[in-house]
Amino acid sequence: MAKLEELPAEAVQLEWDTPLFRTAQRQFEQAIPYADVNESIVERLRYPERAVVVTVPIRRDAGHVGVFPAYRVQHSSVLGPTKGGIRYDPHVTLGECAALAVWMTWKCALLRLPYGGAKGGVRCNPRELSPGELQRLTRRYTSELRGVIGPQEDIPAPDMATNEQTMAWIMDTYSMQVGYAVPEIVTGKPVALGGSLFRHEATGAGVVMVTERACRRLGWRLDEQSCVVQGFGNVGGIAANELAAKGAVVLAVSDISGGVYAPDGLNLADVRAWIADHGTLEGYPDARYVTNSELLELPCDILVLAALEDQITALNASRLDTKLVVEGANGPTSIEADAILAERGILVLPDVLTNAGGVTVSYFEWVQDLGRLFWTRDEIRARLADKLGDAFDRVWELADEKAISLRQAALVAGINEVAGALKARGIYP
Ligand code: GLU
Repeated sequence: MAKLEELPAEAVQLEWDTPLFRTAQRQFEQAIPYADVNESIVERLRYPERAVVVTVPIRRDAGHVGVFPAYRVQHSSVLGPTKGGIRYDPHVTLGECAALAVWMTWKCALLRLPYGGAKGGVRCNPRELSPGELQRLTRRYTSELRGVIGPQEDIPAPDMATNEQTMAWIMDTYSMQVGYAVPEIVTGKPVALGGSLFRHEATGAGVVMVTERACRRLGWRLDEQSCVVQGFGNVGGIAANELAAKGAVVLAVSDISGGVYAPDGLNLADVRAWIADHGTLEGYPDARYVTNSELLELPCDILVLAALEDQITALNASRLDTKLVVEGANGPTSIEADAILAERGILVLPDVLTNAGGVTVSYFEWVQDLGRLFWTRDEIRARLADKLGDAFDRVWELADEKAISLRQAALVAGINEVAGALKARGIYP
């Protein structure tokens, strides 16, 4: 594991060394024996290239100034600019951003996008901030990162609790500072500003494209499967709709207030209408209320994890009642849970493959912005299906050939791309 040059063991406790970062690092170590990479390159890729900590002051609506810790971590710039989302969440830490940046590197490389991984965030409770406060927070955070982000350096995108409007504020702040419009500084922005058609749906739709392809390989029909979806935001909400549109039955969904379960299937249009009227799922009348942990253990064929990291752990992995776990979120399954699920014969479609639809359409958005030439929705959907299908097939075949898990195979495929490039470039100077 971590072995930074000539440091005593106690000094190896690095600033980003948190449980989630250790999960990312242990997954990396589990993939390395199957990758085509020498120890010098492995050692370089163990750590982020750059980790930035800033504090962001904003004037609160009440009149006083509030200060929020904020981060941006860039893991690898070997293949191109770094790329990854920005999240607003009370649990954001440097270590969480570092783990998520590492996963972004393997995700981009697996999809053969010319990017490395990054992730950033502000530690705040976005539900307690007004639209004006969120705008001031976003603009000041963007200013603080002015020296490290850029269309050829590091390109932010939406993540938890950030959206098209957040990206519009980032684009405007950056553009006002350089003096002209720079749409290619962020992806996931409104279409009116050079955003891409289909970006909003891309992650959730991509999750279902990968699930459908897996079903085909397994000899199952998607329209005969029952599904539980944890999370009803931009990933889970869209994935649930796409699953239902393809004939699968969605038994349960959840949001921050808990879950709702109907053994014969939910009416998703009704659920959506309830949320539009009430803000959350809480109180939805036509289903049984379940807690988040009950939801994860409901009997189903396919369990889609589209909420948070660290949801399936040694504590609940042995109680899952499903055939296939689909990782729409980043890092929802712990190392221990991975081993238990493998032992139980429950297949896991890993995050770096399964939720890569978002960053893939982000790449299409950046290319369109740089070329000032825009594609149709059908073109984008078809290109996304091609890219995800190609990556899925490479992962499936590698897993078969080396008798390893789909997660290991996805990481090996990503690591091999980065390692090949780093070997050719060499360590500077
Ligand atoms: N935050 C998303 C992810 O985790 C999207 C990143 C992007 O589009 O750059 O993949």
